[in-house]
Amino acid sequence: MWDHAWANRIALFLRAWATREAPGDAAGELGPLPDAELVLTHDVDAVSKTAAIRAKQGAFNVFKAFRHLRDGRVGRAGASLAAALRFGLAPDDYWGFPAIRALERRAAVASHFNVFGGWRQGRSRLFDPGYDVMSPRISAELRSLAAEGCVVGLHPSHGAWRDAGRIAAERAYLERALGQPVRSLRQHWLRFSFADTWRAQQGAGLTLDTTLGFNDRPGFRNGAALDFLPLDSQGQEIGIRSVPLMLMDSHLYDYQAAEPQEVPAAIDRWLAELRTVRGVASVVWHVQAFGRDYGWAGGYAHLLAAWSPA
Ligand SMILES: [Zn+2]
Repeated sequence: MWDHAWANRIALFLRAWATREAPGDAAGELGPLPDAELVLTHDVDAVSKTAAIRAKQGAFNVFKAFRHLRDGRVGRAGASLAAALRFGLAPDDYWGFPAIRALERRAAVASHFNVFGGWRQGRSRLFDPGYDVMSPRISAELRSLAAEGCVVGLHPSHGAWRDAGRIAAERAYLERALGQPVRSLRQHWLRFSFADTWRAQQGAGLTLDTTLGFNDRPGFRNGAALDFLPLDSQGQEIGIRSVPLMLMDSHLYDYQAAEPQEVPAAIDRWLAELRTVRGVASVVWHVQAFGRDYGWAGGYAHLLAAWSPA
């Protein structure tokens, strides 16, 4: 059900049908088919390895080890325990910006970085990123990303998903650090409701949202790979664009617990769907995932190579 962009497939079917019934008219009216578009994004959940991350990721990997043991995968259980120790004890660098941009420059692409701006807005220590975007190193990095053509968007705090005032305050704080307007966003932890979230984002002055997706699996949450204008329950345009989230790094590495050598084929499968349906969708590779602890950079390198035309 979620594996295909059914709305696109139905539209393509109707188009093929119209073209068959009235070849000349349809070709003229419908115009050329659009090219598929992949929106590359990075949610900036961490830029350094904090005590909270050590504890959370250590515990999560112990949990994964027990799950592997239960399912009889002793080797994988050992790997997860090793990961728990690494997360808990070893030093690592979560400043993934240079690694990401090196890969992207080689592929001649630019991406979106969604950044936390909620430092002063009553953030939750447990759920929200621990950095302050006004720190000189982060602020300088964001300005240089924007100068290179990357888009800096907002990653609102965990509690802000239906609170226009709070999203607006976090956006204003991020804009101070960046020195220019912020128009796009993705909600942290993908916290979202159809009734409230787009309305709150629009109320906070944002124009593009890439939240619509699943936390625990890849797929098309509204059955479409389309850049579209959502309507409210009265059928009125809310005034914000939505581009769905098709694939996230953690879908493959954490939730589907893929072996590293299975990741490229899984990525290829999603890219093929997007190409087939001539769709638009976003993908997320987290900035901290380029450190040694996660080791998910290889998947992103594969994705860029597999998507680039040459
Ligand atoms: Zn996040």
